[in-house]
Amino acid sequence: MEGTPRILVTNDDGYAAQGLQVLADSLESLGEVWVVAPNVEQSAVSHALTLHRPLRTHRMAERRFTVDGTPTDCVTLALGALMADVPPDIVVSGINFGPNMGVDVHYSGTVSAAFEGVILGVPAIAVSQVIAEGYSFHPAAKFARELTAWVLEHGLPPETLLNVNVPAAPPVGVRLTRLGTRRYTEGVLEQRDPRGRRIYWIGGGEPLWENIPGTDFPTVHGGEVSVTPLNLDMTDAEFLKRLKAGPPSWVGGETAGV
Ligand code: MN
Repeated sequence: MEGTPRILVTNDDGYAAQGLQVLADSLESLGEVWVVAPNVEQSAVSHALTLHRPLRTHRMAERRFTVDGTPTDCVTLALGALMADVPPDIVVSGINFGPNMGVDVHYSGTVSAAFEGVILGVPAIAVSQVIAEGYSFHPAAKFARELTAWVLEHGLPPETLLNVNVPAAPPVGVRLTRLGTRRYTEGVLEQRDPRGRRIYWIGGGEPLWENIPGTDFPTVHGGEVSVTPLNLDMTDAEFLKRLKAGPPSWVGGETAGV
């Protein structure tokens, strides 16, 4: 890499979130940090893109902007407008307030912002912090800095991001992992509003994780940082191979069901 790297920092917890500020500060020594983040919290908005109304940015300071949209909007606007002259060398999303492990990466605005970077051709990292008694964003920020420096030097495969989860206690190590599996126990809670109408709350219970070795959850639970490479291509290569080996009746030729 030539010259000073440009680093785009975003998140889904909003511009004012402490995790974002700690992350941006820690990356300052690596290059020119730009922050483009939602003006209000956008957790669990996944990869939503705002298409049916205009977006507005607000300049908070030099290279610091809020957007009245989603994390994906922030990355899109950063690359397409705010930083359009020289695009960033890396997108770092986080530090999220709470983990993004297993199937939760599909709901996560933090991970989706990083994927938007990947889609637009910029290597990306997503960083999330487990919240429990005594947690601090500083170990996660320190590791994010080390990992960002590594990615700036080595790059990443074109469809890949690194999803990082950091335990609440100071980490005792770093481990490469797969996505874990969570059992859904939360369900839906039905209540009545003050006018007697039914209302519903999604979630609320404690998530139950399966203790599968080599996955993110037991790694973080054991006090280590987990780093999971995620690929944009969701094709199930294994099942595709099996289907092709013994094609079902609805595949191919004149006899196909279309
Ligand atoms: Mn969040």
